[in-house]
Amino acid sequence: MNTLPGSSQKIKLMPLLFVGHGSPMNALEENEFVRGWRLMGQSIPKPAAVLCISAHWETHGTLITSMERPPTIHDFGGFPQALFDVQYPAPGSPSIAAETRENIHSTTIEPDQKWGLDHGCWSVVKHLYPEADVPVLELSLDFSKPAQYHFELGKELAWLRKKKILIIGSGNIVHNLRVIDWRNPDSGYDWAREANSKIIKLAIDGDFKSLINYHSLGREMELSVPSPEHYLPLLYILALKEEQESISIFNDKTVMGSISMSSFKIE
Ligand code: ZN
Repeated sequence: MNTLPGSSQKIKLMPLLFVGHGSPMNALEENEFVRGWRLMGQSIPKPAAVLCISAHWETHGTLITSMERPPTIHDFGGFPQALFDVQYPAPGSPSIAAETRENIHSTTIEPDQKWGLDHGCWSVVKHLYPEADVPVLELSLDFSKPAQYHFELGKELAWLRKKKILIIGSGNIVHNLRVIDWRNPDSGYDWAREANSKIIKLAIDGDFKSLINYHSLGREMELSVPSPEHYLPLLYILALKEEQESISIFNDKTVMGSISMSSFKIE
């Protein structure tokens, strides 16, 4: 873990994660991605809480879940009953939600009592912390705002890392459901693999400006990011990267033609 320079008492920063969550069935299946998440949960310090920015909570304005007991939301259709039966009973944290609202100044964060944990969050966090003993909060994505807004808002979450709060962006850097190829579960189209590699390279090179202006990155990016919600959680995580930190990639694979599972750890 890294420490902040210049502090007499070294403050450890929690790592940051961006997770490609893929199919909701990952909540139940045993596969290479689930194993990657589980290993990640075991290899980083246990957090005091998790703040998740999920592709599946888009709102007008930015909200933070503020209830004691966030319900498990089954925000999908056409899956087996077993998936609808999954409950992830992690507590919330009204106090961390209130503190987050106080510490963000570029916009007003509204408290939310209606949402809970959507599958972008629980299908992954369930494997990181199977005991559901870590409080989990979600921060919504304001669909009315441009990528730059999300990047700037991400920066304002930096103080949470000093409080041992694990910030997770959950999406997929390549995500195009319109052309998904069910017959090809184990690989991606050429353009999906190219876009995946391009995004990873720009992130590792620190070219966040290009990643914010992703609309200008060419045809493979247009196909890979047809709508922003699965991509934007990555910008929150990159915005929080400290100069001296490095990015490591895990679960680096494109599946079903047009989904990338590639995930980032920053520390
Ligand atoms: Zn999703």
